[in-house]
Amino acid sequence: MPDNDPQKITVDRQGDLRVPDNCIVPFIEGDGIGPDVWTAARDVLDAAVASAYGNQRKIAWVEILAGEKAYRETGDPLPEETLQTISKHVVAIKGPLTTPVGKGIRSVNVALRQKLDLYACVRPIRYIEGVPSPMKYPERVNMVVFRENTEDVYAGIEWDAQSREAEAVIGFLQDNMGVTIAKGSAIGVKPMSRRASQRLVSRAIQYALDHGLPSVTLVHKGNIMKYTEGAFMAWGYEVAREMFGEHVVFESDGGVEQESKVLIKDRIADMMFQQVLLRPEAYDVIAAPNLNGDYLSDALAAQVGGLGMAPGANIGDDCAVFEATHGTAPKYAGKDKANPISLILSGVMMLEHMGWGEAASSVERAVQKSIANALVTYDLARQMPNSRELKCSEFAQAVLDRLG
Ligand code: NAP
Repeated sequence: MPDNDPQKITVDRQGDLRVPDNCIVPFIEGDGIGPDVWTAARDVLDAAVASAYGNQRKIAWVEILAGEKAYRETGDPLPEETLQTISKHVVAIKGPLTTPVGKGIRSVNVALRQKLDLYACVRPIRYIEGVPSPMKYPERVNMVVFRENTEDVYAGIEWDAQSREAEAVIGFLQDNMGVTIAKGSAIGVKPMSRRASQRLVSRAIQYALDHGLPSVTLVHKGNIMKYTEGAFMAWGYEVAREMFGEHVVFESDGGVEQESKVLIKDRIADMMFQQVLLRPEAYDVIAAPNLNGDYLSDALAAQVGGLGMAPGANIGDDCAVFEATHGTAPKYAGKDKANPISLILSGVMMLEHMGWGEAASSVERAVQKSIANALVTYDLARQMPNSRELKCSEFAQAVLDRLG
């Protein structure tokens, strides 16, 4: 064991993470399949750290509450203490959460992202050899989606049909803007700001530069929603020019991919769904508003084996929360059946974020080996005729056996 007491991860003045060898990381176990996949992921991450660094490094896990468990124990699905603990510790990881119905909160997940200003949802979509896929050439899919996390119709500003609020908005629009909306309609609002769009796009471009990736594609529906989605694209180009100057070239100016520069291009969202099926190799980093980014990242996850495979992170300027892309899959809750790869690979992203790259790579290799040995959970087994179907905990053991 490292001989000092567990310490918090901190951020220095330059914005770089300072990660102690014996560091505290808060975790939210999650609801539904959360406890199964979290136990599997934690065992694998602990063993990977031990195998990569021996006694030199260790994670001291601290449980924090959210979702149903928090509601049962505290009466609040997202206690203030949970938010404060994540803020203080800078890095956290979570399983999927259920939002208890009628508890004054629309979605625990959305609230968590908004309250901690975790503005970038980062979802790498990469194919692992041997995973069944509906694609002919799934190995050509290798993208990282940066989805804006705080705005758009997804922000939850909406009112029920025939409600006082909806009628007031309809009245206002009719009287002041000359807009006709059917009486009794439900109303939703789609706010999109320069600040939120530009910080997301600049993070995506910085990621491409840091990882030597050739292009960033701004995905939007600006041909129809000109002042929201269209502005997302325009603000994206603006920040690319102003912040990244000589490091970027633009397809719209006739630019092409070239070494040590990032090509900035844009695509209309509906067409992009075709592009990622027909020409996935042409795309590397994608920056998208909230709703389009959500649809696109789930569709891309299907191309590489489904939601059980796709990791994710919610990242802000002050802290980051790593999480599986899938939900609580209630029908598999407590059955030790779900695929834990999504949360395990979210843990890999967390280890990379902490600079513990050796442990991260060893987990990735061990997951690849388990799949190559046809040892998989039910979701992959049902598409792999010669595989051996394992429980969630057995899959974790298969990965543990292949570490190091
Ligand atoms: P879901 O929980 O992701 O499950 C949908 C289906 O996806 C499952 O029935 C299963 O398909 C497959 N799946 C998901 N995770 C899997 C895993 N780890 N291993 C294998 N298969 C997996 O989506 P949902 O049913 O729409 O949502 C259920 C609840 O989760 C809702 O309360 C929702 O709000 C919440 N949710 C939470 C988050 C989050 O915490 N970030 C995200 C999304 C949804 P098969 O039945 O075909 O095997």
